[in-house]
Amino acid sequence: MRYVGSVYRPPSEAYSYILQVSIGCSHNKCTFCSMYKEKQFRKRNLDEIFEDLQMARSHYSQIKRIFLADGNALALKTEDLKAILEKIKELFPECERIGIYSAPKDIIRKSVEELKLLKSLGLGIAYLGIESGSDKILKYIKKGVTSDEIIEAGKKMIEAGIKLSATLISGIGSDENLEEHAIESARVINEIQPDYVGLLTLLIQQGTELYDQVQRGEFKLLSPQEVMRETKILIENLHIDEKCVFRSNHASNYVSLAGTLPEDKQNLINILDENLKRPYDVKEELFRRL
Ligand code: SF4
Repeated sequence: MRYVGSVYRPPSEAYSYILQVSIGCSHNKCTFCSMYKEKQFRKRNLDEIFEDLQMARSHYSQIKRIFLADGNALALKTEDLKAILEKIKELFPECERIGIYSAPKDIIRKSVEELKLLKSLGLGIAYLGIESGSDKILKYIKKGVTSDEIIEAGKKMIEAGIKLSATLISGIGSDENLEEHAIESARVINEIQPDYVGLLTLLIQQGTELYDQVQRGEFKLLSPQEVMRETKILIENLHIDEKCVFRSNHASNYVSLAGTLPEDKQNLINILDENLKRPYDVKEELFRRL
């Protein structure tokens, strides 16, 4: 398989064949993100993409899941995505789900009809990095979108019937915005009602603007106890109507949480309360990673 630079995928796409349909991230300005710093954003040529698919077909007898990378593959024109999804259908009739990274502005640029078309061609799940629901924090981390735009994008995906997996980052507002981050993030999730919510814990990567801010003492990282307190406030404020799978069991997290909301809400809060009572020995810092 041919890949340009480092390739990233959500944890739940661990067993997927990753197809780079674009290179890098068209925004590439978030202060905490180092993923695509070495890449200049570009869309890949359709012929190249089709060649990769042919190569994958000749290597693998069965591919059940395909993930479209890089950072915001949904930035491609709908007609190009349509051609890619049709080619996948033709070459991999056994494929059960196609996933994609999506940014709010890419979703907003497409109509619900376009998204429904992509869904009908096999696009089953979109991953949306919300990071925080607080406009103050979104501005500070240079996310390039407002909470209203995130809500509009998320709702559009749900309306189109594409499963939505939203990600938040614990500690992204520092200690002074702990409550605001938790409450505002819950507000955005409540508005969107995504199918999945994933909670990562902030890890500082060298080479990012946030790393420099931490070094200069301008941004304070949360202690494990503060992260747990923030997570508790977030969960307390989540009001999910139907089923939403909540996961905070990424390697970056201090406490592993997994459940389905709304029914597991109290159980998740109880786990956090238990951990908040003891001194931090839940996970050695050394073992936290992306
Ligand atoms: S967090 Fe997402 S939108 Fe921001 S720079 Fe990284 S890949 Fe791009």
